[in-house]
Amino acid sequence: MTDFTKTKSMFHIPDGMIYLDGNSLGPLPKAAASKVASMMQDEWGEMLITGWNRAGWMELSTCVGDRIARLIGAEPGSVIMGDTLSIKVYQALASALELVPQRRVILSDRGNFPSDLYIAQGLLQTLGPDYVLKVVEPDEVDDHIDDKLAVLMLTEVDYRSGRMHDMQALTAKAHKVNAITVWDLAHSAGAVPVDLAGAKADFAIGCSYKYLNGGPGAPAFIYVAPRHLPDVRPALSGWLGHEAPFDFDLDYRPAKGIERMRVGTVPVIALKALETALDVWDQVEMADVRAKSVDLCELFIAEVERRCPSLSLVSPRDAARRGSQVSFRFAEGFAAMQALIARGVIGDFRAPDVMRFGFTPLYIDKADVLAAVDILEEVITNRLWDRPEYRIRGKVT
Ligand SMILES: *Cc1c(COP(=O)(O)O)cnc(C)c1O
Repeated sequence: MTDFTKTKSMFHIPDGMIYLDGNSLGPLPKAAASKVASMMQDEWGEMLITGWNRAGWMELSTCVGDRIARLIGAEPGSVIMGDTLSIKVYQALASALELVPQRRVILSDRGNFPSDLYIAQGLLQTLGPDYVLKVVEPDEVDDHIDDKLAVLMLTEVDYRSGRMHDMQALTAKAHKVNAITVWDLAHSAGAVPVDLAGAKADFAIGCSYKYLNGGPGAPAFIYVAPRHLPDVRPALSGWLGHEAPFDFDLDYRPAKGIERMRVGTVPVIALKALETALDVWDQVEMADVRAKSVDLCELFIAEVERRCPSLSLVSPRDAARRGSQVSFRFAEGFAAMQALIARGVIGDFRAPDVMRFGFTPLYIDKADVLAAVDILEEVITNRLWDRPEYRIRGKVT
């Protein structure tokens, strides 16, 4: 059994704050600051360029990838870190399309995160007018999987509502028509159990700064099913994806393994910070995280519906179809969220009217949920949100 009291003690949560936004940016692992400081002094400071060999910086992107692999049901040697998630979407989609060269259709849904769709639109402009991106309603994805489909590109858990696709079933259906799947795990990794190998997923990508707690701008990950690796041509063929970067050949030759999906120099300092988060994850079983996450979400939904009837549930009611977040619709949701934040309950807002709350068992417990609902009830019942300063929108909502 996972000891969640212990994991909670390993994060820094500011006094008086109930942090329900770990789905956007996880909190600071207490060990991160000193680990990064000593890396800077002992490795960057003392070793300089020799750190790549002596401190193992070169292996960091695959070592960290393997630690994340355990959390997403991926085979060892199938995950590598680097770049941002948006870049990894490009890489995965471009490589996936090349595996089905005779087909031209990419299928995604309206619940996908805009960046994934923007990246697809940009790539298709480069590839030419034959290619189409079909964006359908989330519950209609299944109906659009046919023998014209090249790539099914979905985010498993909807960032706005928490609705979860059935990865296993949709992947099986896509494979029946010989299409390739790209799964975005941005709101799955560290949030729900994922079984990439079991689902026979082809490509997967995700970020490490949300539920995984790697810190702002922490590097993304990419997974390629081992059966595809030899055939995958990296569209972003950088020198650190080359078979022998330090031969400085003038022609590109992809590395044998997942290293071919590395593009350029990896963010070593950020990876060191992420490692401290993974030290916490090493003590955790995803099944325990899921069980506690469902309990916390069910408690929150029941209490909010009982005490704040003007809020309506956006997330699926069935826990099996929901990730680790709960969203409620409220016409004055933006102002209400600002009023909550002013009182130490941190969630976030997604236009036009969605108040979003993330539940992260590593550092949130039942008492936090009940305390958050007390404050939410006060804000809604007494219209505490109805003040001009709560209507001012910052750059990040
Ligand atoms: C958070 C998120 C992103 C963000 O991409 P970055 O390149 O890390 O800024 C992309 N896609 C999805 C599905 C997300 O949830």
